[in-house]
Amino acid sequence: MNVSGRAKGQKKIGIMGGTFDPIHFGHLLAAEESRTVLELDEVIFIPAGDPAHKRERKTASPEDRYVMTLLTTLGNPKFTPSRIEIDRKEPSHTVDTLREMRHWYAPEKVTFFFITGLDAVLGITSWKEYEALPGLCRMVAVNRPGYSPRKLENLPAEIRQAIIPLEIPLLSISSTEIRQRIEERRSIKYLLPEAVEQYIYKKELYRKKLEV
Ligand code: ATP
Ligand code: MG
Repeated sequence: MNVSGRAKGQKKIGIMGGTFDPIHFGHLLAAEESRTVLELDEVIFIPAGDPAHKRERKTASPEDRYVMTLLTTLGNPKFTPSRIEIDRKEPSHTVDTLREMRHWYAPEKVTFFFITGLDAVLGITSWKEYEALPGLCRMVAVNRPGYSPRKLENLPAEIRQAIIPLEIPLLSISSTEIRQRIEERRSIKYLLPEAVEQYIYKKELYRKKLEV
């Protein structure tokens, strides 16, 4: 074991899951801070295929969300996009994705760090088979405006022990706010990468169709 808590030959892989509808600088900052502070070898970005809990609202297609993720990760050699969830027919669940990824990597060689914002991790007890998660990964809880890390204390002890709270610069950016701005024809500059902004406009995503 060396200073960073890594056994020889061990890889540390971050997993950034999300709807990414669209992906924005809040996601990127969470991933990059986790990568540098926890000395992760890479971060894999996994756009959700069929976000079961978000079916009601106007979304971009899984393929468009994947392309935006791909465009975003191009500039960072340590970031990789993955199609694992969007290529799956059934709704995405973190536990299934982690189990599938476990098949590709020898357990003694890789530790997964599942990166989430506080808002997401505080609702973890509603996730499918959440009790199994500590056996599959460590969880990184980055702070997000409006959510107190102290709330982590309310989670069951087995889960809490698997969570690494990580303080990052607070960015008050959400995909919901970006979609709303687009609908209202307001600027989204400096909230997300320029390539993603251009892609959104080119494909006319999140725009209410004008009545004719
Ligand atoms: P929506 O408003 O549609 O829910 P979102 O901005 O919350 O979108 P998600 O795709 O739901 O983005 O989030 C993916 C992950 O990234 C979640 O774990 C979420 O907590 C985290 N995250 C999103 N935005 C931020 C942010 N600004 N700071 C820190 N973490 C964030
Ligand atoms: Mg969200």
